[in-house]
Amino acid sequence: MKQHGAFGQAVYASQTPFDERRIGAAAIYCSDGRFGEQMDEFLHRGLQLPRYDRIALPGGSACLAGHAAACQEKWAMERQLEFLIREHGLNRIILIAHDGCGFYKHLRTGGRHPEQQQRIDLLKAIERIETWNTGVAVEAYFARRHGGRVVFQTLAQIKF
Ligand SMILES: [Zn+2]
Repeated sequence: MKQHGAFGQAVYASQTPFDERRIGAAAIYCSDGRFGEQMDEFLHRGLQLPRYDRIALPGGSACLAGHAAACQEKWAMERQLEFLIREHGLNRIILIAHDGCGFYKHLRTGGRHPEQQQRIDLLKAIERIETWNTGVAVEAYFARRHGGRVVFQTLAQIKF
């Protein structure tokens, strides 16, 4: 492979062809690499969302729910979302939390079980995005390790 533009030699070419079309959906999830492939599979196959925009950071959408002490990215994430809604024409945002999330390990939750706090945070994040009145549909899921796989539950099915 030869040199392109301002960068050095190409070292790899993707098997997946490039597709120009945007689908108007974005997913916000935790950057925990152990769940990365499964998140991708769920969004591609479970929700039929190819080429969705990704926002991955520790705790996923937890920052949108506050937690100022643990997360200073709230403002940055809101700016990113505003940009994607406007420039990429988003009409659907998917939030995914996961069990055993490191972000919640040291978070003060007032004695609440981490999953209970995650559920509250997902609801708060949905509410936060809905206050912008952009008409974007927001939905949330919980990824849980189960029998060597990862299952995805809707928000209503998250039990404590
Ligand atoms: Zn996590």
